Amino acid sequence: MPSITFLGAARTVTGSKYLLELDGSRLLVDCGLFQGLKELRERNWQPLPVDAASIDAVILTHAHLDHCGYLPRLVAEGFTGRIFCTQGTGSLCRIVLPDAGRLQEEDAELANKRGYSKHTPALPLFTEEDANRALVQLQLIGYDRPVPVADGVEATFTNAGHLLGSSYVKLTFANGGGRPKTLLFGGDLGRYDRPVLPDPTPATGADVLLVESTYGNRLHPPSEEEEKLAALVNETIKQGGKLIIPSFAIGRAEEVLYWLRRLEEEKRIPQVPVFLDSPMAARAREQYAARLDELDPEIREASEHLRARLHAEHRVCAFCTARFQVVSSPKESRQLVASKAPAIIVSSSGMASGGRVLHHLRAALPEERHTVLFVGYQAAGTRGRRLLEGAREIKIHGEMVPVRARIDRIDSMSAHADSAEILRWLGGFDRPPAMTFLVHGEPEAMEALEATIDQRLGWRTMKPEHKQTVDLAEFLS
Ligand SMILES: [Zn+2]
Repeated sequence: MPSITFLGAARTVTGSKYLLELDGSRLLVDCGLFQGLKELRERNWQPLPVDAASIDAVILTHAHLDHCGYLPRLVAEGFTGRIFCTQGTGSLCRIVLPDAGRLQEEDAELANKRGYSKHTPALPLFTEEDANRALVQLQLIGYDRPVPVADGVEATFTNAGHLLGSSYVKLTFANGGGRPKTLLFGGDLGRYDRPVLPDPTPATGADVLLVESTYGNRLHPPSEEEEKLAALVNETIKQGGKLIIPSFAIGRAEEVLYWLRRLEEEKRIPQVPVFLDSPMAARAREQYAARLDELDPEIREASEHLRARLHAEHRVCAFCTARFQVVSSPKESRQLVASKAPAIIVSSSGMASGGRVLHHLRAALPEERHTVLFVGYQAAGTRGRRLLEGAREIKIHGEMVPVRARIDRIDSMSAHADSAEILRWLGGFDRPPAMTFLVHGEPEAMEALEATIDQRLGWRTMKPEHKQTVDLAEFLS
């Protein structure tokens, strides 16, 4: 009897993991880490309800850690099957997973040194070596090509426009002599009319659907990147300051660089030095530049145009400005922190919870002439959230730093579809699914989306609980 068990992202936004049990095979769709609150993170340590070795294959929708970050642990626990994903997802996994392993090891080491873990010794959830071992099992698949992933099951990956390589995945099951049945895993859904990533590809239908609901209860503000970014760059540079933009290393940095290049080209901001000070972001940027044909048509055109004008290597130019520089070594990063010259600095982490951006903030926050611009969601408890809430001083590397710099935000750069965009995507279905599971959302957002779907489409929906198993026979027969 076919069934699905929700091992993550059920009434919460992290830990995406769906166990599909079919006649004789077991598939895991997404294999994400729980992040955020401690009670959620502790779930990463709980054993899976099935033996990892008994899972035949894993299918990944994209390379954000809340969708792929549990893979090293799964492999360490005995999973030996293939991990199917797109080429873009594979290349980003090669960047994020070993880094996540390294961080786990460093955290465990620190906990042991300071003795603040209740476990002795504190252990990493997985190591860099575990991550590298998991990468060997990646099986890269092109978009829109059905491939067999288990006995009688084919998977098709389609561009979801949420991150480089991101996809929604349709599984097709043979159904005796009848019409084949389909199960569609929506993954994280991207947005419409954005410049770097393409619109989510329209989906035509499925018997069973899983759809995210992160922003099921809100509408994104109208695009404010151009006006606000131009104003902040001009004002900050005029007063001789630095514009520091904490940014997620994967995805967001490319969007920021795109806007800076465009504003510069339109002569709305001066040509100033722009530094990308994050080794991970620099590597991800190379992957974006190498896979332009999977990005938005607008950025492909812009690249062609630039190539003609500058006779430069067009692939790199999509995400760079006239005076763009990647900061590679820690020594160069320290020099940049010490420099007094006006500049724009894009550095991670995006919520100022760690990474090189902390050094920039520590140096810049006490001075009025600088600006710190947040371009992503700031979770409760992070330095980013405290700065936006108007903190007058903030602790960095154990020291209180006074805040006199200007703190600002741009809220329109989210990578997740809002309620109207989710509905627009669902509107492409030619028939209602027999069941639509709402996943990847906080309860409030989920309830709001459920009400909207009911009102506008009249579809049958369910909001599964963590670890709930649902028999799919009724919907797939
Ligand atoms: Zn995502």
